[in-house]
Amino acid sequence: KKIEPKKDTYTIVSDSAFAPFEYQDSDGEYKGIDVDLLKRIAEMQGFNLDFKFIGFSAALQALESGQGDGMIAGMSITDERKQNYDFGDPYFESGIQLAVAKDNDDITSYEDLEGKTVGAKVGTESADFIKEHQEEYGYTVKNFDAADQLYDALKVGSIDAMMDDYPVIGYAIKQGQALKTPIERESGGEYGFAVKKGQNQELVEMFNEGLRELKRTGEYDQIVNTYIGEDG
Ligand code: GLN
Repeated sequence: KKIEPKKDTYTIVSDSAFAPFEYQDSDGEYKGIDVDLLKRIAEMQGFNLDFKFIGFSAALQALESGQGDGMIAGMSITDERKQNYDFGDPYFESGIQLAVAKDNDDITSYEDLEGKTVGAKVGTESADFIKEHQEEYGYTVKNFDAADQLYDALKVGSIDAMMDDYPVIGYAIKQGQALKTPIERESGGEYGFAVKKGQNQELVEMFNEGLRELKRTGEYDQIVNTYIGEDG
């Protein structure tokens, strides 16, 4: 089905570093599952993209203020967000998980976080989760604007643990980062393409249409497997 774009070019806002969904390769070029999926969808549906990789919470704000038409950023579809954003069909199943330094054997349950410092990226589900459970487990919360700051903080020991989406932690570990995940991940968290509520509805329709087509042809699996591999 062909849906008529209402603009020649749509501004898409995204995270600045969220591998393997969006990240800069060694040439400074952005790539990843989100980038590749949306590029193919735009190609098939006949519209142009102006990607802005500005960081997760900045992207949320840009969408709200109308500076961005759409957002793709490994963004989880939640009931709370549905009040402010309209989501396309879910395109990836995720969830959040706690990570600690590889050589840290002190933390094997949430209870072990008492008196420790736990970090997350501002505006994310992980940030909400660690804030919600702060009193219960008695740790201090520290939020970071971007993933590199968060992961560096754990590396240098200025935080004891961090929370992030499990496929992102898994990818970092595969890339050789000295992390581990001692606690079972939290369930839920499907990713969705988002627009500001009531705005750019044709963009959501084009996304859904393109996604269906990519799944039908197997190209969706190809793109995901390029970054994550069959064994996930
Ligand atoms: N999936 C998480 C969320 O939506 C994190 C997204 C991100 O950090 N890019 O809150």
